[in-house]
Amino acid sequence: KTAETLLEVNNIEVIYNHVILVLKGVSLSVPKGGITALLGGNGAGKTTTLKAISNLLQAERGEVTKGTIDHKGENIAELNPAALVKRGVIQVMEGRHCFEHLTVEENLLTGAYTRTDGRAAVAKDLEMVYEYFPRLAERRKSQAGYTSGGEQQMVAMGRAMMSRPDMILLDEPSMGLAPQLVEQIFQIVKRLNEEQGTTFLLAEQNTNVALKYSHYGYILENGRIVMDGPAAELRENPDVKEFYLGMS
Ligand code: ATP
Repeated sequence: KTAETLLEVNNIEVIYNHVILVLKGVSLSVPKGGITALLGGNGAGKTTTLKAISNLLQAERGEVTKGTIDHKGENIAELNPAALVKRGVIQVMEGRHCFEHLTVEENLLTGAYTRTDGRAAVAKDLEMVYEYFPRLAERRKSQAGYTSGGEQQMVAMGRAMMSRPDMILLDEPSMGLAPQLVEQIFQIVKRLNEEQGTTFLLAEQNTNVALKYSHYGYILENGRIVMDGPAAELRENPDVKEFYLGMS
């Protein structure tokens, strides 16, 4: 089977502050309707790769100096994040980034700001988010800053869902969460993928859980892809077992 390619990253280099070469020629492709994992240890370049795709490097004095990034066959390198959201691509940043002083529900509604299809459609999707995350329905009136880390991860994902994305770039969803919550979050990723057809590219240090829920994986080391393959094969690979599966 050959699925349509939604996103194609071809040989990109990223440099911070004009000197620090962090990505040294990264290529990957994300098939439509799949869950693709970007794996690797601390500092390998996972976040940088996601930020290069959604054009969020500028604020950190980073830039793509080589290579191409195509979405549905078109170059998206110059598009700002809002334009990308309109194309159906949204990033959920590492560390959740909720608006702490807004309620859970207000946070979710901010995710719909680029939409032009009316209040009724937005209200319907809010109910859908609450159906996926019953916990958020219970906490809808709570100030986001006072919710738990797991709840804030749910808010960040729910807010992304409110933009009706085809594709979610999910950065380190497991970070700082208890194992049971990590499983819960990944179960929702799987459900969204199966029921809504949402494509995922997710960066994870937790190789165990990422390979359990993904279809395909890329392993980054020191700014280079050192291995890639179907998740089931990577799980059985002796090097992956030795260097990645034991530690998370
Ligand atoms: P983590 O799990 O820590 O987020 P990562 O695989 O996502 O790891 P990146 O955050 O992409 O890795 O970082 C890759 C490398 O780039 C690291 O060596 C990091 O120190 C460096 N780096 C990241 N951001 C900047 C920046 N704004 N300026 C300079 N160097 C940076």
